[in-house]
Formats: sequence, C-alpha cells, structure tokens
Amino acid sequence: MTILMPAPDQTVLDRRGSIVAALRAIVPGEGVIDSAAEMVPYESDGLMAYRQPPMVVVLPDSTEQVSKVLKYCFEQGIKVVPRGSGTSLSGGALLGLGKFKRIREIDFDNRVVVTEPGVTNLAISQAVAHAGFYYAPDPSSQIACSIGGNVAENSGGVHCLKYGMTTNNVLGCEIVLMTGEVIRVGGKSIEAGGYDLMGIITGSEGLLGVITEVTVRILQKPETARALMVGFSEVEAAGECVARIIGAGIIPGGMEMMDRPAIHAAEAFVHAGYPLDVEALLIIELDGPGVEVDELISRVEAIAQACGSTTCRISTSEAERNLFWAGRKAAFPAVGRISPDYLCMDGTIPRGKLPAALARIRELSAKYGLRVANVFHAGDGNLHPLILYDANQPGEMQRAEDLGADILRTCVELGGVLTGEHGVGIEKRDLMPEMFSEIDLSQQQRLKCAFDAKGLLNPGKVFPTLHRCAELGRMHVHAGKLAFPELPRF
Ligand SMILES: Cc1cc2nc3c(=O)[nH]c(=O)nc-3n(C[C@H](O)[C@H](O)[C@H](O)COP(=O)(O)OP(=O)(O)OC[C@H]3O[C@@H](n4cnc5c(N)ncnc54)[C@H](O)[C@@H]3O)c2cc1C
Repeated sequence: MTILMPAPDQTVLDRRGSIVAALRAIVPGEGVIDSAAEMVPYESDGLMAYRQPPMVVVLPDSTEQVSKVLKYCFEQGIKVVPRGSGTSLSGGALLGLGKFKRIREIDFDNRVVVTEPGVTNLAISQAVAHAGFYYAPDPSSQIACSIGGNVAENSGGVHCLKYGMTTNNVLGCEIVLMTGEVIRVGGKSIEAGGYDLMGIITGSEGLLGVITEVTVRILQKPETARALMVGFSEVEAAGECVARIIGAGIIPGGMEMMDRPAIHAAEAFVHAGYPLDVEALLIIELDGPGVEVDELISRVEAIAQACGSTTCRISTSEAERNLFWAGRKAAFPAVGRISPDYLCMDGTIPRGKLPAALARIRELSAKYGLRVANVFHAGDGNLHPLILYDANQPGEMQRAEDLGADILRTCVELGGVLTGEHGVGIEKRDLMPEMFSEIDLSQQQRLKCAFDAKGLLNPGKVFPTLHRCAELGRMHVHAGKLAFPELPRF
C-alpha cells in the first residue's frame, strides 16, 4: 500500500522536513519516498492528462502502519490520497497502495478469499483456479489493477452482466479511517446486521477510508463456456439484438460490442479474426452446463439472424473463445496504437437507448472534428467511447474533454448515469450537478463527513465543491454550481 500526499497547503509544505521525518519514524526503511525523481510514477494514474506531484509517498505494509500514518496526518491536517495500482481512468488516483500483496486466506468451505488490497484482481482467480474456482468481476485491466482499487471504484468487467459488479462480490472489508481508527465492515457471510456499510464503501473512491483487507466471494467455474462473434452492417441492429437477447430472458456470461474503428484497431493489434466489413461486432458468451449452452447458442443465433446479422462464428475450443475475447480486452491499448492520445469515457444508458446514444455520439464526433471508437459492455448499457486526439495540437485536448462532457450529458439525458465503473474522480466531478440536485449532493457529503470530518481523504475528487462539514445545510446553488469556495484541485 502506498499513501501519497496530494498538493499540500503552503503551511504544510513549510513543515515538509519534519513531516517526512515523522513518517519515516512510522514506516522505517524504504517505506517513505521523498525525492522528486522517484515520485514521478505517482504523479498520475491511467488518466495521464491529469498530473500532480505528491509531497511525499509512503509505503506502509501493515494495517498498524496505515493507522499511524492516517492518525498523524489527521492531527497535522495533511491531505491523503490512497492508491492501488494506479490504473484508474477517472483521474482518481494521484497517490497509491503497493506492499499489501498477500492473500491472507482461501476458504473453499465458505467460498471466500480474504486478501490484502494490493493483490491484483487476476491473482485472486489464479490463486483458486486449481480447485475450479474464480473471482467473477474481471475488468480489462485485471492483470494490473488491485482489488482495493476495484472496491474503491466498484469495478466491472465482461462477466458482470451475469455475475454482478464488485459490490455484488465483496462481502467484507477492514478499513482505516482518517483518524487512524480501524473498523471492520461485513465478513464472510452474506448477511450483515445494521446499515449496508459495505454497499457504501464499495464505489466510494477512497473518500471514506483506506481499505486494508477485502473478503471476496469466489464462484465455481461454469462447466462450459462458449462465445459467439456476430457482425452487423448497422450498429442499430446490433443494439436491437442486445435488447432482444435480454428480453428473451437470456443472460449471457458476457455481451460486449465494438464499432468499426474499435474492431479495426483491435484486429490489427491482436489478430483475433474479427470481420472487417461490419459496422458493429457483438461478442456474446454463454456459460453453464453443456446442454444448456448448446440450446442458448441456437436461440441467440436465431435472434441475431432475425436482427439482420451478416456474420456469425461460434467458438469451438477454449483457445478460440479466448481469442475472441483477446481483441475486446485489448481494445484500449489497440486504440492507443492508432492515436497519439485518447480519452476513455465511461457512461451508462438504459440498454434500449443504445442506438440513440451511438447516433448522438456520431453527431458529436463530427461536430468536434474528433474520431471516436466505441467499445462497451453492451449487456449493461455501459459505454466506453474512446475519443482520439493529439495533445500536441493546440486546443485538441480541450476539444476532447468538451466532447467527452457532451457524451456524458447525453447519457444522463437518455436516462443513464455519468459513470458505469470507472468512477467520478476528478474527471467527471464538475458534471455531478448534471445528475444530482443540491440536496442529493449535500446528503452525499454528509455521509463523507461521518467518515472524514476534516475532508482530508482524496480531496478534490467526486464533489464539485467540498464543503466544510460544519457548513453543510447552509448551501445554495447558483447556476448549477455550489456556492462555497472550492478546495484546490490537485
Ligand atoms: C487498459 C485499462 C482497462 C480498464 N478496464 C476496466 C474495466 O473493464 N472495468 C473497470 O471497472 N475498470 C477498468 N479500468 C479502470 C481501472 O483499472 C479500475 O478502476 C481499477 O479498479 C482501479 O484499480 P487500481 O488498483 O489501479 O486503483 P487506483 O487507480 O490506484 O485507485 C483508484 C481509486 O481508488 C482509490 N483506492 C485505491 N486503493 C484503495 C484502497 N486500498 N483504499 C481506499 N481507496 C483506494 C484511489 O484513491 C483512487 O481514488 C481500466 C483501466 C485501464 C488502464
């Protein structure tokens, strides 16, 4: 686990020497990094457009050290940003968590794994694979992202359509509060008494506490899994197919969609055998007992044909199924090869609005003069438009951000939400009033105050304006903006 300090106030900077010394006393050895060169990797997360050098990086390796660091920072009024693997795409992690890399317990009887937060998502599945188990939520970044980051962002993935997001697969957490106090929420059982605090912690983007242990549910691998790769000459037809499959009562293990630019980029990168003469490609996975999978494949194939599919391939081996997915899972880096920079948006719409959303994105792409490649979790209605731009061209990054904001506004207008799985972070913070009223936002901030009364954890994220807790209840909104002065961005 790494704990970084965001842009500090001048009064804190003036005390930097004594702060570093105090932190070294808590985390001895190589646990504190304060040289500018060594802190460079911590300046940004996966959204590299936003950067902020931390004042100091702390790498504790036990809950006790985390508790002491937070207690010290609380007393000294020092802001803290926790960081997992730094793959977040919402400007969410300007600081981190790397030494908590141990799986503490594998409990097959209760079908749970108790793990430290720095363990990668994929490592959990790998640790239980020998017994035929896996951890279902599978972000495309699963090889790198940490389970702590997944809980903080309520991450999703291909399999979340059928098996639920992180929130549906996490049973308990140990959390260190900003005061240094350690609390446990949930545990190994599904039912926990009292408020659903686990539900509040999941997706809280590190604003409420630092997660130092996670208990996740593991599932038995399905007997069979096969994938269909279905091409369409119109994106609207592919969107219709998605809606009809779900409407027929079929919940695939995964149902993903790519448009022409994304298909071409992924194929050139991975050579998955994607058809290049289609406008949209659906990858649909069906899993379960073999007989059931065969039956579902026939039904899905028939629905696709009725929707006007132009090509359909069905995987005949595990290697082929993995190849179908390889292109989709590598779509982000594949798009990175065809553009100097790209901005990955993450908004969600009701499934039935897919064609309308895609049509609007096409219009906006033309209006701003920037290419957009669409990759998304179609079954969940979770869009990932990738906006291609060149940061070296004056004004292009601003245009990309404006286009992204308009896409997210479109999602909200269509009855959707600002984020599906990447979180709000800094990137979408100023769009929160598009979706939430003043009352909604102040109520959410009261919750933050209950955990972090001084507003020291992850300041500047999620809320367009973070109010002093004592001021809540006396807020006014002017022209969609909250009226109290903003805390500095980092
Ligand atoms: C190529 C690529 C593909 C991706 N695909 C997906 C995808 O399919 N689905 C998806 O959901 N996301 C995806 N992401 C986004 C990202 O991987 C996830 O949001 C992931 O959960 C972040 O984990 P992390 O360990 O990197 O967290 P970080 O980036 O380090 O942190 C993310 C946020 O969580 C907070 N945080 C981290 N650890 C803790 C902790 N222990 N306690 C408290 N707060 C903490 C941080 O302060 C920050 O606000 C992708 C990213 C990339 C680069």
